[in-house]
Amino acid sequence: MKFDTIIIGSGLAGLTAGIKLAESGQRCAIISRGQSALHFSSGSLDLLSTLPDGTPVHTPEAALENLAEQAPRHPYSLMGKENVLALAAESEQLLTRADISLVGHHRQNHLRITPLGKQRASWLSPPEVPQAPLPWQKVTVINIAGFLDFQAELVSGSLSATGSGVHVAELTLPVLDVLRNNPSEFRAVNIARVLDLPENLPALVDELRLLLGSGEAMILPACLGLEARTVAAVEQALGVPVKLLPTLPPSVLGMRLHNALRRRFQILGGLIMPGDTVTGAQLEQGCINALFTKNHREVPLRTRHVILASGSFFSGGLDASRQHVTEPIFGLDVNIQAERAAWSKADFFTPQPWLQFGLTVNNHFQPSHHGECTKNLYAIGSVLGGFDPIQQGCGAGVSMLTALCVATQILVAAEACHEPA
Ligand SMILES: Cc1cc2nc3c(=O)[nH]c(=O)nc-3n(C[C@H](O)[C@H](O)[C@H](O)COP(=O)(O)OP(=O)(O)OC[C@H]3O[C@@H](n4cnc5c(N)ncnc54)[C@H](O)[C@@H]3O)c2cc1C
Repeated sequence: MKFDTIIIGSGLAGLTAGIKLAESGQRCAIISRGQSALHFSSGSLDLLSTLPDGTPVHTPEAALENLAEQAPRHPYSLMGKENVLALAAESEQLLTRADISLVGHHRQNHLRITPLGKQRASWLSPPEVPQAPLPWQKVTVINIAGFLDFQAELVSGSLSATGSGVHVAELTLPVLDVLRNNPSEFRAVNIARVLDLPENLPALVDELRLLLGSGEAMILPACLGLEARTVAAVEQALGVPVKLLPTLPPSVLGMRLHNALRRRFQILGGLIMPGDTVTGAQLEQGCINALFTKNHREVPLRTRHVILASGSFFSGGLDASRQHVTEPIFGLDVNIQAERAAWSKADFFTPQPWLQFGLTVNNHFQPSHHGECTKNLYAIGSVLGGFDPIQQGCGAGVSMLTALCVATQILVAAEACHEPA
């Protein structure tokens, strides 16, 4: 099998790069071992919410120069302010072409309501996710009887503290009883698979109508809406806005985003090899010319370009032992704090240094191996170092922007070499 580009990892970074390359006519494959961070995410995408020194960011554009001073190895600092803004705009267009409806703009963060009812600055959110300040005097927050991954009382307490009138009610819907009997099955995605069935809509709407009371809007845990049409149908039947709050993983809103990106890549002719693990590569004259995987064993997957989008520790893109952090496929150079004692902080709530560990790359996002770059190997997304996706609120932005940055370079290089598309 021969490809223009093989991408390792089907998270937000890998899928974004794959879509851009496939849109330009490249023959692309994505090899992916398992689920990505999207399956566990809020479904909202962060661009830059806080500077490393703790300053909140309202307009990312205005904060990028400070970021470059405070974090010169941050992926945004490597690509430069103008590129960040252009690639953020390009990301928004790519999501639209993938038929993904999100609200927000890279020029201005919005405050989304979190599963605890707090506020968090974000770049793009599904339209069902409520934003602060809430435009309603009274809202009804729905708990689902027996569902442990959502705390309606906590949400209610946080929203009440900001001046909203909140009424909590409990949905008991008998159609969920089969799932409810097994607590380990009573998870957001399984509930959504039941509630999204068109035949269950009338009963759902009937019970929600009784529970709404005097609420001008309803907030539910995101246990419906694997397909966006369900929420629209409930909203239309109730006649009030219906909003969803992300729950503990697995995440309905994150999976919806993943499914839409995957669908777009495949429609464009991209090939996904799920459940396979890249184990190594064959090099010739300083370039990778083939990859090897667990499933294909000794059959080489030939390629002109390779993008490593294997994620951070969470997805196995980085591996940690007590003394070392390694990149397990190619043994690439990882940028870590020298002192073992400085890897983590005792206070769980302060930014953790290990979250910034990742690959050392040059300004073209080419990783090194003992200081030497491989010409046709690039790294994107959360396998990179130099940023903290939690403290800085930049995880999705780094994934999408580095993906587009690298895909553009590959297309330019392919054109310069007159590679046939
Ligand atoms: C639990 C969690 C929740 C998050 N929530 C948010 C959020 O709500 N908003 C936000 O902006 N950011 C969030 N982030 C930050 C997140 O890192 C980025 O937003 C982004 O989704 C990361 O995408 P990625 O493609 O770089 O990596 P990942 O999503 O981690 O994908 C890496 C992929 O590579 C595959 N892989 C690894 N090794 C191999 C191999 N050897 N062979 C083949 N495949 C391999 C993995 O199976 C996986 O599919 C979250 C991160 C985590 C961990």
